[in-house]
Amino acid sequence: MVHTTAGGTSASEVRSCRPTSDRPTIGEATTHKTITDGTTGSGPPSSQLPDFCGHCSNCARIALAQDLEARVAEAIEARENLRDTDKKETRIFVQTHPDVLVIPPDPPQLMIKVDQVRQVIQHIYYRPAEGRESVYIFTSSAFMKEAANSLLKVLEEPPEFATIFLLTENPGELLPTIRSRSMIFTLGALPSAEIEGWLAQLRPDWNARQRALVARLSEGSMGRALSFDLEGYVASRSHALVVLKAALGAGDHGELFKTTESYRPGAEGREKIESLLRTLYLLLEDLMCLQSGAGQLVRNTDILGELQKMAQAADFAWVQRAAEGLGEVERGLRRNLLRSLSLDAFATALERA
Ligand SMILES: [Zn+2]
Repeated sequence: MVHTTAGGTSASEVRSCRPTSDRPTIGEATTHKTITDGTTGSGPPSSQLPDFCGHCSNCARIALAQDLEARVAEAIEARENLRDTDKKETRIFVQTHPDVLVIPPDPPQLMIKVDQVRQVIQHIYYRPAEGRESVYIFTSSAFMKEAANSLLKVLEEPPEFATIFLLTENPGELLPTIRSRSMIFTLGALPSAEIEGWLAQLRPDWNARQRALVARLSEGSMGRALSFDLEGYVASRSHALVVLKAALGAGDHGELFKTTESYRPGAEGREKIESLLRTLYLLLEDLMCLQSGAGQLVRNTDILGELQKMAQAADFAWVQRAAEGLGEVERGLRRNLLRSLSLDAFATALERA
């Protein structure tokens, strides 16, 4: 049946749909602890992985929304460029596939607003354009009061061809009346052994060491594991090791400067250094695990021997100083300090200390 809203909505929408080179993935929702499914009678969840092939045009388009932060940022930027009067009435959506609408919290309040829910209500009773089902994903459970009440209306009578996902880390944030109309799935992190098992089937191109590494780095998320950029990670890590070894006084400075020199200004350089910093933090965590006798928690298992040597050369206080130093580098980057210089400074300051 068709549901009509009194008065409709005057809000227009900004949808981000710029294609990216991101690799597709599943399991986007695993950073959130719970998924609520607003459909009626949709049956028990499948015990198998979702049928995400990652290659067909449906999967490829849906996967464009995976880097949600970037897509939302694009939509916000597009709204910023509108005339003031339009800006006020424009709500943020991400839609990279005609049958999948992602509804993020709308800035500046970062809450789901009533106009966003009204848009959902306007679209949800139309049959999906291409797929068998249409999917609506609310990525936050922070609803403005009016928005929550509006959502309740659609949950009372959802069309059978639409599924609404409400992602939340805290189901208590949702109205009890919303919760009672939902099926609740609690998503926990998968043990890395299980992910390794899946990868053996799904990524036979990776060897056992690589699969063990990826399983540990994907924090219990199968989707993250499947789309893991192993090559990029290993490249970043080899640079991170050069920096850390120099900081430990074990590497030679020629190599350090040659490495840090490759971190150039511009957007590409920014991404490169961000992934370097993430990798540096990961390595410091591994060193800390080794130092505190929790070697089973080490994630970079494929270079365990190397890490053990480094863990012996460093002590807890050094790791702590290194972590603080990385924080310093990050702050420097925000002030647009020259990247290579701040990396050099990071390594040499630790060495002197
Ligand atoms: Zn597919």
